Amino acid sequence: ASETQEHDVVVIGGGPGGYVAAIKAAQLGLKTACVEKRGALGGTCLNVGCIPSKSLLNNSHLYHQVLHDTKNRVGDVKLNLGQMMKAKDTSVGGLTKGIEFLFKKNGVDYVKGTGTLTGENEIKVNPIEGGEPQTLRAKNIIIATGSEATPFPGLTIDEQRVITSTGAIAMQEVPKKMVVIGGGIIGLEMGSVWSRLGSEVTVVEYLGAIGGPGMDADMAKLMQKTLQKQGIKFKLNTKVVSGDVQSNGVGVNIEAAKGGKEETLDADVVLVAIGRRPYTEGLGLENLGIETDERGRIVIDQEYRTKIPHIRAIGDVTFGAMLAHKAEEEGIAAVEYIKNGYGHVNYGAIPSVMYTHPEAAWVGQTEKEVKDSGKEYRVGTFPFSANSRAKTNLDSEGMVKFIADKETDRILGIHIVGPNAGEMIAEGVLAIEYGASSEDIGRTSHAHPTLSEAFKEAAMATYSKAIHA
Ligand code: FAD
Ligand code: NAD
Repeated sequence: ASETQEHDVVVIGGGPGGYVAAIKAAQLGLKTACVEKRGALGGTCLNVGCIPSKSLLNNSHLYHQVLHDTKNRVGDVKLNLGQMMKAKDTSVGGLTKGIEFLFKKNGVDYVKGTGTLTGENEIKVNPIEGGEPQTLRAKNIIIATGSEATPFPGLTIDEQRVITSTGAIAMQEVPKKMVVIGGGIIGLEMGSVWSRLGSEVTVVEYLGAIGGPGMDADMAKLMQKTLQKQGIKFKLNTKVVSGDVQSNGVGVNIEAAKGGKEETLDADVVLVAIGRRPYTEGLGLENLGIETDERGRIVIDQEYRTKIPHIRAIGDVTFGAMLAHKAEEEGIAAVEYIKNGYGHVNYGAIPSVMYTHPEAAWVGQTEKEVKDSGKEYRVGTFPFSANSRAKTNLDSEGMVKFIADKETDRILGIHIVGPNAGEMIAEGVLAIEYGASSEDIGRTSHAHPTLSEAFKEAAMATYSKAIHA
């Protein structure tokens, strides 16, 4: 190994968990390095996840809207897929460079290479450009190596015919027919993009509802109806048995989840979107006996410590929702534990957003979870079809649903399907963080005419009655 460098904190992985932890650590005066092997900062989220998918979702929505909803007011449009992909790449490029700038500004050492744990305080880094490995010594180590797509047994990913989300954000032409395995967030977001651009999309979901774990049952049904209207087909309670990949397409063999007659769906492209799994390849956990659970997640305690207390793990590589903002909160809390001995993340107030159109967003418990807890509760809803701004925008599908404790009126869960739900949920997150009641929101003035009035009115409907419904 070449030189050895001493750091207070070395973070392995430069995704939202890792890069935020590194910046925070440097801001708190700790000498910090971040090791990243991708050649760019920002992790899955910025390079092949949140950001490129949202670029395509936004532009495909604009295209679809002009093509269908506003055609007679705008005129004809033609898809320029190349430009759409370029716009995505420009956003990604600018943002990754932005993090590099923030590293410089805050004094974080950016080490480009693959990090392997070789001792309790030692990381060997194999540089991306090749050459001698470098050794970093660290008082504290934060593992933030993220996740990768879970493969589907028997269907080899080639990112051409059989793709993950990484292939789905980079297709050079619109496939005629696309089969999506898994009706979770990735399946519905990427399915939406390609359906809007003209692909015939069929989503095959093992369970009886779409949206993945965590989506309220009413919202999942509403979302499915809306996406069906947009042209996406759904096969629920259905499993993929096998796939037959040919040079000109893929035959996807499906049958009822309970078993039954087999049927074949023809596809030009198959998107595998059945979840993601922690990524720890080459990390050297075995060198130190750091444990993972049966799903490959690094085992940690409440302070993010592995069994070696100064080695912590955060983000997708450990327990909890696989979300960028959850990883970021953990990055900050883990560093605060290192520096101050305490830190905090309120896991009851982490929002989820699905960036389809309309969007779906939620925070807190689903109605089923509240019911199962045995608590008595009230539900208040308000449809966007009764909201003046949504009507004016000709974009009024969806509703807001509040669930509050019957006795205390404390908000237990908020679920939205509607335009801009992802922005609107922030108010709900704050409400839950502050322990607000539905009446607190119902008595708070919301600007007119805004979509957020639907949020207020759903709150009013929870403890009393809405005005406009
Ligand atoms: P990652 O972002 O996966 O980063 C880990 C990094 O570690 C990677 O860059 C990897 O190269 C590096 N690494 C791994 N091993 C080593 C090693 N040994 N040495 C050096 N470097 C290493 N979440 C949201 O909240 N909102 C969204 O809209 C959203 N959209 C998504 C869309 C898609 C298509 C996908 C796939 C995911 C999306 N997610 C979204 C999830 C989000 O991307 C993840 O939750 C988030 O990236 C997790 O952050 P992380 O820091 O834990 O890991
Ligand atoms: P997911 O867990 O959201 O959904 C996977 C779906 O596939 C589930 O509905 C599951 O029932 C189904 N499934 C599993 N095995 C199946 C099988 N054999 N056949 C048919 N269906 C099957 O996972 P995802 O959509 O792959 O996303 C992975 C992770 O990335 C999630 O944790 C998600 O939170 C995160 N992500 C978040 C966003 C966002 O925040 N907007 C966007 C994309 C991804």
